[in-house]
Amino acid sequence: MQIITSPQEFQALCWSWRCQGLTSAFVPTMGYLHAGHVSLFEWARANSQKVAASIFVNPTQFGPNEDLDRYPRDPEGDAAKARAAGVDVLFMPEPGAMYPPGFATTVSVSGLTEALCGRSRPGHFAGVTGVVSKLLMLAIPTTAVFGCKDWQQLAVIRRMVRDLDIPVAIEGRPIFREPDGLAISSRNVYLSPKERAQAPSIHQGLLRAKAQVASGESDAAKVLADLADFYGQSMPDAVVDYLECVHPETIVPLQNVSGPALLAVAVKFPGARLIDNMLLH
Ligand code: AMP
Repeated sequence: MQIITSPQEFQALCWSWRCQGLTSAFVPTMGYLHAGHVSLFEWARANSQKVAASIFVNPTQFGPNEDLDRYPRDPEGDAAKARAAGVDVLFMPEPGAMYPPGFATTVSVSGLTEALCGRSRPGHFAGVTGVVSKLLMLAIPTTAVFGCKDWQQLAVIRRMVRDLDIPVAIEGRPIFREPDGLAISSRNVYLSPKERAQAPSIHQGLLRAKAQVASGESDAAKVLADLADFYGQSMPDAVVDYLECVHPETIVPLQNVSGPALLAVAVKFPGARLIDNMLLH
């Protein structure tokens, strides 16, 4: 596995793959790799001739009071995991190389960035779409691979790729979970043992709501009220940041969940803010 820090070198290598007619899959990450990231690498390995991954803790997607400075990092462990999963090239740029002095361009998607995480984290998605468009221009992959854990992010990237005619297929992969159901996240390491013991309730609540819908409940307000109660009781140390039923593609809030519907949640523990989601059908 090659490790490249220069954007120009990374782009040259990826271009050479394209020119040879090879298929490539690209997996952008912020590192501190876990089994969820590895599942994306493995899908990429099984479905394309070349695999590129990036590790870049992108400063522009963090708000002023967020955890950029303490975001966990482990470059050596990450390189070992990426190598073991069959990644051909790992791109690990410095912020100064991605955003040189004078950098002045923004990319933003309106509408579906304004709800859920966009409301809680102003500016977050503009940071994401800016860096993802830059990474896609560098990696020029046949396919870019993302996790459904960040469902809204995936919907925003699909919209951006369609709107800008970026010639890449977007693959969304299922959420990889701990055995107790907690969605695996780099931020889980910040949870205290007490918080970690409560956190699986996030997923249990989503399953409970899905079961209610399967047995005939279609009123989003009722499903959400029951779930808010469940979370209040099962996670006394957490505050619900948002809890909403939305359309999976447009992220517009729904009153009735008998059609396509996504239940999305963010909770804040003192140690970490966690997100999760589930399609209701
Ligand atoms: P991150 O490093 O958190 O920015 O995540 C990089 C990519 O991995 C994103 O596309 C995430 O959606 C995806 N990802 C993160 N956690 C998981 C998980 N538990 N299961 C599947 N994909 C994940």
